[in-house]
Amino acid sequence: MSILKVARLGHPVLRKPARKVEPAEIKSPAFQKLVDDLIETMREYEGIGLAAPQVHESVRLALIGIDEGEGKNHNIRVLPVVNPEVTPLSKTTEEDWEGCLSLPKMRGRVVRPDKVQVRALDRRGNRVEFDLEGYSARVAQHEIDHLDGILFIDRMKSFETLCFLEEYSKFWTED
Ligand code: ZN
Repeated sequence: MSILKVARLGHPVLRKPARKVEPAEIKSPAFQKLVDDLIETMREYEGIGLAAPQVHESVRLALIGIDEGEGKNHNIRVLPVVNPEVTPLSKTTEEDWEGCLSLPKMRGRVVRPDKVQVRALDRRGNRVEFDLEGYSARVAQHEIDHLDGILFIDRMKSFETLCFLEEYSKFWTED
């Protein structure tokens, strides 16, 4: 496994719609290695999701991180999704902070539907369908947006809350 270089804001690969993955391609060693490398890269940089275009691979593959457990048992479960589609399950929205490994050390508030359904293929090529809510629903939408060349800043209603991590910690968090 390898840690891959993460594309940063300004790299055209982040703005290009990614191509669909052919089902026959999923089981190939090259694709499986990409999934493993993507997971290793996400863990290295402590992301809660990562999409293939962020590591310069313009294919419809993303990782959705599900934050589980607390304290010592804190763990991020990773769901790799291939050719994912996300559908809102409610009209209710939620506003929360987002960050992105491609916009290092920045944060901004984004409004998104708070419940979604994800339909995709898993890393073995099997069809999967699951519902997510809260922060996980946000992560799924953020990552799947990457596959269409959309970044979280595009979803911000205004840039008033766009800030650097240091200022975020200083002025925008309570603890
Ligand atoms: Zn991102």
